[in-house]
Amino acid sequence: MKVKKIQKLPKLLLIVASSFIISGNSPITPVNSRPLIIIDPGHGGKDKGAISLNGIPEKDLNLMLAIAIKNRLNKYFKVIMTRNSDYFVSNISRSIIGNKQKPSLFISIHYNSLFSMKSKELSIGVYSYRMQKDIKTTSTAGSMQEKYSQESKILAEKIAKKYKDCPVYRMPYSILSNIDCPAILLEFKNLKSPKDCLNLASRQDIENTANKITDIINKFFLNFSLVF
Ligand SMILES: [Zn+2]
Repeated sequence: MKVKKIQKLPKLLLIVASSFIISGNSPITPVNSRPLIIIDPGHGGKDKGAISLNGIPEKDLNLMLAIAIKNRLNKYFKVIMTRNSDYFVSNISRSIIGNKQKPSLFISIHYNSLFSMKSKELSIGVYSYRMQKDIKTTSTAGSMQEKYSQESKILAEKIAKKYKDCPVYRMPYSILSNIDCPAILLEFKNLKSPKDCLNLASRQDIENTANKITDIINKFFLNFSLVF
């Protein structure tokens, strides 16, 4: 029976399972409250993030893409952003905003400039407490995210599967460490790649990326019983 299968699913998926009715090919019908997704556009204000080869600050790209994803996810989810304009938000404040309303998922949006000089459409980061000893970090991260590490990893790997050659990095990201729900950090393209910088802030590029990510997240939530 399906119930037995659902009981074995991680907590994230159980929350989703209890929030929707799925019938045949018809769209999902939200029941009670919609699952809450927190979207976190990285950097902002005095913190510009990386600067692309053609001079675009990462903070602006993060915000444009986050808004585009939010507008699409709004159809099935309640969505809150940690910032909705160009101002500085500390990591602690992002955690507080994120945790306040018991979200089902936290997604931090960034553009790549660190992981690799190779051009990749997407890299995904998940918090890993265990790696903290191996990597130099000033983070005093607690273990709040550790209890969700399995769920975050499962989600990251599902997204990675849909993105060709998308690597999943397990790192002690300070922004993810104190988030009280499954959390992932997405890094799009590479601001140091001439090829990736070509259409970086174009409306079409932002919309294409937002459509793809929204589609993956929708499908992940809506078709969880098929995915697992
Ligand atoms: Zn960043």
